[in-house]
Parts: sequence; C-alpha cells; structure tokens
Amino acid sequence: MVSPTPSYKSTLQRAMSRGQLLTRPAQLVPYEADGLGYKRYPVELVAIPADVEELQSLLKVLKETNAPFVIRGAGTSLSGGPVAAQGGIIIHLSKLRKIEEINPRDRFALVQSGVVLNELEAALEPHGLYYPPDPSSGLSCTLGGNVATNAGGIHCFRYGVTGNYILGLEAILLDGSIVQFGGPAGGRGDWREDWKRLFVGSEGTLGVFTRFWLRLIARPEKVWTFRAMYPDINSASEAIRQLARHPSYPAAIEFMDPRSIDMVENSPMSVGLPRNAYMILTEIDGPPELVDARVGPIAQLLRNCGSDDVSYSDQANQRQALWKARKAQGGLLGQVSPDFVVQDAVIPKSRLNEILNFIYEKADAAGIAVTTIMHAGDGNLHPDFLFDQNKPGELEKVEQIGKELMKKVSEIGGTLSGEHGIGNDKAAYMASHLGPLGQAIQMAIPRPFNTRSQLNPMKVFPERRYA
Ligand SMILES: Cc1cc2nc3c(=O)[nH]c(=O)nc-3n(C[C@H](O)[C@H](O)[C@H](O)COP(=O)(O)OP(=O)(O)OC[C@H]3O[C@@H](n4cnc5c(N)ncnc54)[C@H](O)[C@@H]3O)c2cc1C
Repeated sequence: MVSPTPSYKSTLQRAMSRGQLLTRPAQLVPYEADGLGYKRYPVELVAIPADVEELQSLLKVLKETNAPFVIRGAGTSLSGGPVAAQGGIIIHLSKLRKIEEINPRDRFALVQSGVVLNELEAALEPHGLYYPPDPSSGLSCTLGGNVATNAGGIHCFRYGVTGNYILGLEAILLDGSIVQFGGPAGGRGDWREDWKRLFVGSEGTLGVFTRFWLRLIARPEKVWTFRAMYPDINSASEAIRQLARHPSYPAAIEFMDPRSIDMVENSPMSVGLPRNAYMILTEIDGPPELVDARVGPIAQLLRNCGSDDVSYSDQANQRQALWKARKAQGGLLGQVSPDFVVQDAVIPKSRLNEILNFIYEKADAAGIAVTTIMHAGDGNLHPDFLFDQNKPGELEKVEQIGKELMKKVSEIGGTLSGEHGIGNDKAAYMASHLGPLGQAIQMAIPRPFNTRSQLNPMKVFPERRYA
C-alpha cells in the first residue's frame, strides 16, 4: 500500500469547501468493497465533491497528496472496479446528479455522471424517449459507472450496449484540465472526435467523467414478452439460435438454467415453474401492427424447438409475471449464500452446452453451488458461484474455477467480460488472453493520461501499480 503524505487531508480540504470528506472508520467501511462484497480493501479517506467545479479543484491538488485514488459511482461493480486496491482515496460522485437537458428535438440528453440510471429512465418516459442500455442494477448504478464499464443489459441484444449511445463525453484529466470528445451532434469522424470510444469501457483508468451526451430513441410502442420452458439444453440452445436469426429481431433473448430455477422455486419468490427445465425469455417490440403479426410465428418457433410450455403477453402486469423468476434471481444470491461471485464472460452461442457442462463439472467436483443465467442473444454468460469465505478453502476453490473457466472461454474464442469489466478481479488473466501485442497496446493507452497509475491502480492489469 502507498502511504499518503501526512498533510493530504488538509490539502484536500483546501480544494473542497462545500463537499464532504469522510474519515471516520464507520463512514469508510461501505467503501471498502463493491458488489463483490467478500473482497475488501481499506480506504484512507472518501471525498464527495459538491459539484464539477469542486471535483476539478480536487483533481488539481491530488498530485500533491502522493495517494492513489479511485472514482466511485454507486459501487455496484461486480469486478472489483471502484475499490482502493492500493489504498488511498475514493472520490464518490454521488452529488453530480443533475439531468441537465432532455432535448426531444435533437434526441439527446445531457446528464452528469452521477445520475442514477432508473432516474434517467423515469425522466425520459413522459417525453416518449428511450435510453435502451439496461443493466439490472438500474435502481442504483450511475451513468458514470455504466460508461466506464460499457455496461450491457437485457435489451442490448437488439439495441446495443452503453457505448452505442454515447454521443459525447466530458472528463477531467489528472492535470485538472477538462476535455470533451464528441457532443450533442455525436462527434462522428476520425481521430480526436472519436476518442470517446477510448474512454468508454476504460474502467476509471483514463480520467474522471463529468457529463455525457446520450443518444435517445423513440420508446417502442408495443412489447410482447414470451417465456418458454425446455426439457434439455439442446432444445433451449436451438431456440436461442432460431430467435437470434428471426426477422422480428427480438429485443431480448435471455436464458436461465435449471439450477437457477430451483433457487427461485425454493424461495418465497417462487412462480411455479417446472423443475429440471431450461427457461428462455424473449421480447419483441415495435409498431403494434408489425409486432402483433409476429406473435403467432414466435410462439410457433418456441414450440417447434421443443417446448410444450410457452406463455406470452402484451399486458404490463402479465409481462412482469413472466419476467419475475429472471428478475428475482440476482437478488436471491445474497439471500441464499453468505458470499457469491457473479462471473461474466462472452462465449460463441453454439458452445453453451459445452461451457455449462464444464461449469457444472468443476463446481460439483469442488462442492460449490452454481446457478447460471445468460444474456443468451449476445452469448453473455453469468455463472454465479455461491460460497462461504469463512469455510476453509471455499474461496480458493471458487477462484480456481474462475481461473479455469476464463482459460476455457479464451480458448474457445470468447472474451473475459461482456459487461462487468475486468477490475482487479480478472486482471490476472488479461496477459494470456490478449497476448504480448494486445497487452502492450492496452498498457500504452492510459500512459498519456495516467502516467504513474495514480488513478485507479491495479485495475485491468495487475502491473499498473502506482509507484
Ligand atoms: C444486482 C446487480 C445486477 C447487475 N446487473 C448488471 C447488468 O445487467 N449489466 C451490467 O453491465 N452490469 C451489471 N451489474 C454490474 C454494475 O452494476 C455495473 O458495472 C455498473 O455499470 C456499475 O455502475 P456504478 O455506478 O455502480 O459504478 P461503480 O461500481 O462505482 O464503478 C464501476 C467502475 O466505473 C468507474 N467509474 C465510475 N464512475 C466513474 C466516473 N464518473 N468517471 C470515471 N470512472 C468511473 C469506477 O472507477 C469503476 O472502475 C450488476 C450489479 C449488481 C449488483
């Protein structure tokens, strides 16, 4: 751990007259971990700047502190992103929470980086506007965290991920200068204007986002939700394949394995699903005359792939009921197990059966419970390993399975993260996944911005230490 100079608290105080500095142990504890609650890193101090101007002054004095620092949105990361892996300071952007403009005419919103995703959604609805990226943590995650991890979600199969909706962004660099790439017109073009793409998914290692210009689209007029249960993985996989190439171009194609269904059915959130079944959820949306005509063909497709249990609806409450098991799954993990890891990888869709068997074999052999869901249209797989870090050896077993899984994913042409980012959780696997050239390029990108890795050290690559 790097030791900050003793005077750093007063240095920060100088830069922040209206914001807050948290220093008491009880105030710091919630900042020691992200959504991976079992991995904790002590924090020296938390700074909560009152606004963008104060954040800028803070960044200007941070060099004097000799302390590494980390930017935090809501802290819902599942990859060890917003944690003080090398000690130091956390800057919490909870006060940068203004939706500055919703522009229906030019179809963009200008938001500060600490705006909570669902608050944006609520503000857009009355305008008939839609911002599609929808991570399931929308109740608390911020746009800043979403852009930094290039967050995905249920409806990203059709609509694309966060990066597809960033027209422009504003960030403060380590020298305190404010840069803007793109803007309300999108900044389409080459070189500098398109540098926003470098920043999307940069996991807080290049600069501190302050504002985004977000691309908005019209809200879909009508939505149909379908749920189909399958007796085996082959028929569920066939449904995923056929849905993915269907001309209705579904908005979502989701998958839940029998172990996830069992977890839901054994809980107070039970919805009466058959056991030992694989669940596919899909949605089509668009103009009523178009989507209504596609309901029959989609239901038939789901049956033809081997389901004799297909339900569908265009009514809000019934659609919610069809989604209930899938939406309950994430929240139940923390209720049924003291600790859990939500893994995140993208695999070629045709390898689902092979990877599921790999996961089951490894987890069963180690005596670790696992449930798996997937943004199936995108091949974005989330096996959730349940364990108790107080039981000797369990954490090590889960980490060993994660390591073997990532190696396998890499071998079959997948990627180490579809949406959660690499953080420090998967940093150790990056070198072998990317190879020497890939690693050299990735290590070179932050250098002009974050030369000594003072900002968010030990993330994405373990070698990125603040010295
Ligand atoms: C129940 C649950 C469900 C989830 N479902 C999904 C899902 O469906 N899809 C998905 O993609 N993710 C999901 N996640 C993971 C997580 O919510 C996302 O990664 C989210 O984008 C993180 O946002 P945050 O505001 O919490 O960011 P944080 O966790 O605070 O930070 C994440 C990273 O972003 C950086 N960062 C944050 N703000 C800024 C900023 N202003 N400038 C520069 N860097 C910044 C941090 O340094 C860190 O590296 C889920 C998490 C939970 C707990």
